[in-house]
Amino acid sequence: MRLTTFRLLILAAACVAQGQPRYDLLLKNGHVLDPANRIDGVMDVAIAAGKIARVAADIPTAQARKTIDVKGLYVAPGLVDLHAHVFGYSGSIFPDDTALTACTTTVVDAGGAGWRTFDEMKKRIIEPSRTRVLALLNIVGHGMTGPEFEDDTTDMDPHKTAAVILGNREHIVGIKTAHFGGYGWTAIDRAIEAGRLSQTPVMVDDKIFTNTGRTSREKLLVKMRPGDIHTHMYNDRQLELLDRFTGKVQPYMLEARKRGVIFDLGHGAGSFLWPVATKAMEQGFAPDTISTDLHSSSIMTVESDMPNCMSKLMNLGMSLPGAILRSTVQPAKAISRFPQLGTLSVGQTADVAILRLRSGVFSYKDAWQKKFLGSQRLECALTVREGQTVFDRDGRGYPEWTKAGEYEVIR
Ligand SMILES: [Zn+2]
Repeated sequence: MRLTTFRLLILAAACVAQGQPRYDLLLKNGHVLDPANRIDGVMDVAIAAGKIARVAADIPTAQARKTIDVKGLYVAPGLVDLHAHVFGYSGSIFPDDTALTACTTTVVDAGGAGWRTFDEMKKRIIEPSRTRVLALLNIVGHGMTGPEFEDDTTDMDPHKTAAVILGNREHIVGIKTAHFGGYGWTAIDRAIEAGRLSQTPVMVDDKIFTNTGRTSREKLLVKMRPGDIHTHMYNDRQLELLDRFTGKVQPYMLEARKRGVIFDLGHGAGSFLWPVATKAMEQGFAPDTISTDLHSSSIMTVESDMPNCMSKLMNLGMSLPGAILRSTVQPAKAISRFPQLGTLSVGQTADVAILRLRSGVFSYKDAWQKKFLGSQRLECALTVREGQTVFDRDGRGYPEWTKAGEYEVIR
């Protein structure tokens, strides 16, 4: 990182010597929220060669080729969605179609590919996407392709899974076990074994029914390791987060958090319930990481993109800086990609989320199709990916059309 920063300084010095603007893009007058650097105030963000070049008050516009005034908006690191579906799963969505319009610059595909199908994912999704796509490799060799495959313990090979992870560390950040409908611990045990062999975390998405022989307590306190992630935390069929009689957060949830198990939102179509989320939030049991579990049906029903998930939690008491922290720094740390991701530190890739916070009355829906009226809504206004503006809802970076230009000849 030091070398990169040094190079940027040399580049900037060379530009000044030649009288050229030293920055490619200047985001001016926004309220910067960069929890990793403890910045919470009005500042400018300058970008050069796809990297963050400077964060400071009053950077002169003359120093930049292009300036976008983002006054009244919040400027944060590009959002990192720890649980999305962009390959393999039947409801997968091509990431650029939904992530970039939601200020999400990194998505982690949660188990779409297994060791047999990762190469196809790399070619079809990772390489052509403008969004940064990382992967949690499914412990099932065929990936997330339905119960016929996902219940087949003979296709859960920790050694082959770990080998593909170790051969693709640039793209693969951990393991996923999901949707296992059989009895016992085989799926979780094999996923954790692959995690041990590859030194990566496991994300657990696990049905709990009386005939599985699995309990939340044993899963969280015996099976899962510190750094492993339980997604769908506000879904009462995966984790018994609350005692059903008292409504209190179960002691084993608190104990698991203390021993380092990470709790992820994983909103999806069926994993956000007002009765669970409100009680957990009242007792301070917020998600460690906010993620969407976005797929083709959740985007149509509960519209669970990142700003929507963050808004819901803010309407249940989470602060805006808290929501940003859990959508940038925390997910980046969970997959060992901090500080490369999740900050606006000088020298890091310029992935930036520019968000608008609106006040009013807004409706939010849960998986049981009940709505909740909130007083604030966070929206994506503009997304910068690797220094390029890839989404600009209000055209803040566009010149204004004037009538004189109506018949301008396009050359
Ligand atoms: Zn999912």
